[in-house]
Amino acid sequence: MKKSLKEKVEKIAGVQVIGNMIAIDGDSELYPLPLVDGNAKIGKGVWHASTLPGAGVITLKNGDSERGTCPVTCPGCYAMTGNYCFDAIRAILMKRTRLLKKYPHIYFLLVAAQIESENVKLLRVHASGDFLPGEASGWYEIFKAFPHVIGWTYTKCEIKGEIKKLDSLNNFNIVKSIVPGCGFNYGHIDYILKTYEKLTSRGESVYVCRCGIDKNQHCKNCTGCALNKYVLFIEHSTGYNAAADPLYNEIYDLIESQEKPGTFETLPAMVGAYV
Ligand code: SF4
Repeated sequence: MKKSLKEKVEKIAGVQVIGNMIAIDGDSELYPLPLVDGNAKIGKGVWHASTLPGAGVITLKNGDSERGTCPVTCPGCYAMTGNYCFDAIRAILMKRTRLLKKYPHIYFLLVAAQIESENVKLLRVHASGDFLPGEASGWYEIFKAFPHVIGWTYTKCEIKGEIKKLDSLNNFNIVKSIVPGCGFNYGHIDYILKTYEKLTSRGESVYVCRCGIDKNQHCKNCTGCALNKYVLFIEHSTGYNAAADPLYNEIYDLIESQEKPGTFETLPAMVGAYV
């Protein structure tokens, strides 16, 4: 861990740094820091905080287990497939989930230390997982304290109470993963086309993610999720081959015809335009 971050982390009462992990007084488990800088899909520079996806109990080969943080375990969810099947990845997500559940106060102090020390500007809350009770209030305080940080998340939770409050911030957007009257915000191309049509006919702000037609697309160059109430995803990581779908050309043309989302340099003036 770099020196400036270590110094900030060790100012938090009861926390010590051991290598790249942290120890908390009275607890024998070591925990990773909450934020990670990008991944192959999202792109470097887009930091993210992930917890265990799925509502069911996830068990590792060593018998370690934890309940996921989503309200449901959805069929075809990318966060239950691919890399997320590896025990090592699930073990780290379990630790972050436990850190958040057992020590929410420390969790958000660590988030603040990372934002300051790593100069975080873009933060995707939950590359996997969903809100635990009380968690959205912690993120509300973070994004209020760091108005220059642009954040977004996806949730299947109802948009009310603390989640609605978080959604009200100008530098934060919540993408609604459940589309009223339709279902999830991902699926095969025929479903995406129908859902897109329904949402636009209702006058809702909606964007279809380019990742479905362009493997080089990543979130650092796209403000789609920072600006839209709904973002639709062509199902991926589940064996569905979108390129072989007879409707592929139709979705390709639709994605290409969408207004290009702005860049993050111009975003602060644009955030909130959809509310
Ligand atoms: S729409 Fe843009 S920001 Fe959202 S997941 Fe796709 S690439 Fe990332």
